[in-house]
Amino acid sequence: MHRQNDYKDLLKVLPHDDILQQCIHCGLCLATCPTYDITKIERSSPRGRIAMVKSVARSEMELSERFAEEMNFCLDCLACETACPAGVQYGRMVETARVVVDEAGFGTTKLNRGIKRFLLRKIVASRSGLKSVSRLLRFYQKSGLQKFVRATGLLKIFSKKLNEIEALSPSISDKFSDKEIKEVELPVGGVKYKTAFHFGCLMNTMFADINMDTIDVLKECGCKIVTPKDQVCCGSLMGHNGDLEFALKLARKNIDVFEKIDYDYLISNSAGCGAFMKDYAYLFEDDRKYAEKAKKFASKVKDITEFISEQKPELNLNSELNPQSVTYHDACHLVHAQKVFSQPREVIKSLPGVEYTELEEATWCCGSAGIYNVVRYEDSLVQLKRKMNNIKNTNAKVVLTGNPGCMGQIKHGTKKFNVDVEVMHPVTLIKKLLKKNQT
Ligand code: SF4
Ligand code: SF4
Repeated sequence: MHRQNDYKDLLKVLPHDDILQQCIHCGLCLATCPTYDITKIERSSPRGRIAMVKSVARSEMELSERFAEEMNFCLDCLACETACPAGVQYGRMVETARVVVDEAGFGTTKLNRGIKRFLLRKIVASRSGLKSVSRLLRFYQKSGLQKFVRATGLLKIFSKKLNEIEALSPSISDKFSDKEIKEVELPVGGVKYKTAFHFGCLMNTMFADINMDTIDVLKECGCKIVTPKDQVCCGSLMGHNGDLEFALKLARKNIDVFEKIDYDYLISNSAGCGAFMKDYAYLFEDDRKYAEKAKKFASKVKDITEFISEQKPELNLNSELNPQSVTYHDACHLVHAQKVFSQPREVIKSLPGVEYTELEEATWCCGSAGIYNVVRYEDSLVQLKRKMNNIKNTNAKVVLTGNPGCMGQIKHGTKKFNVDVEVMHPVTLIKKLLKKNQT
């Protein structure tokens, strides 16, 4: 992701940019790259993409469809950043390049670009828009219409793509969490931590139960939780998909809203949102009005598992339940962007009754990658198949993961590749184990 004022002109910005100069061409990132693994072609690797961006920035290569294709083929999973010994911030580069190709009209038609912008701005970023879509989806799923459509293969008649997108739709919670969660929630036995909660866009509507579980677990930890109702979507999906301008608008709103309240930790249960909110500090680094405020905001953001692992609150958990076999998939934006690797494992392994098996290639992308599984369904399936195979090999009955995109994608994988496993957020497992929850 590039800063707000300098993303517009890649040609001027990138020759002077550390990101391009830092790469020492060692190739250590290649083995971790899911797209290079498919093609074995250099230009589909992180090193190859860096070289392409450099060539464009030095005017040795024109912006082109091929350039756009490679930038969009990338999952932006950031596995290459974790592998890179030189500390190349690859994600900032590829996201900047996406803004540039998007604005230059490559990689998509004008109509598709307009549709994507409309959906991201007016549906995903709008709470009422997303609620309307969720209500429609809920009706579709609960009325039996979904069963009928799937049994008859009706959508395939209209479009294969529509049929594939329909298969990805998550089962919608009965309630919206912003209506259920009070603006201020207090723990029973006195306040130990002052927290705030970002309820997200998809988490608020399509995965609302996970938000409610998060509040219950935080209360059990001794947290006062302030959830401002006028908070907005974090902006990550827009920022990662060529619409940084709108993402920054949302970020400013969130900074202003949370600035008004008194808290020490801003809790997120969505890896993508948490990563993007931690990045606000970088995004506003050159903004005189917002630089300091953004830095303060970002420094308080914590993933729920990060918070529990660091603070080690006493949780009243039931230790007499039957053992359950559990594994864990790392969401890319938790492990590679936020570098949160050991904390969720520590928390999960400490839970009573959990028999933990480490997942082979746990940090390999599942193919969800924001809206990648919608816009590049076939490419995303390659990664999903690999992930499901690894999950199957653990023989676990539950796979935990901390991102709504990964949860939806892996749930889709259970049906597509016939793997008998329950997909759950770590906080939901904790909630199930709370003694209070079982009386
Ligand atoms: S972000 Fe992921 S897909 Fe893109 S180059 Fe890096 S490792 Fe490959
Ligand atoms: S690991 Fe880092 S320095 Fe080495 S080729 Fe990849 S991006 Fe360049």
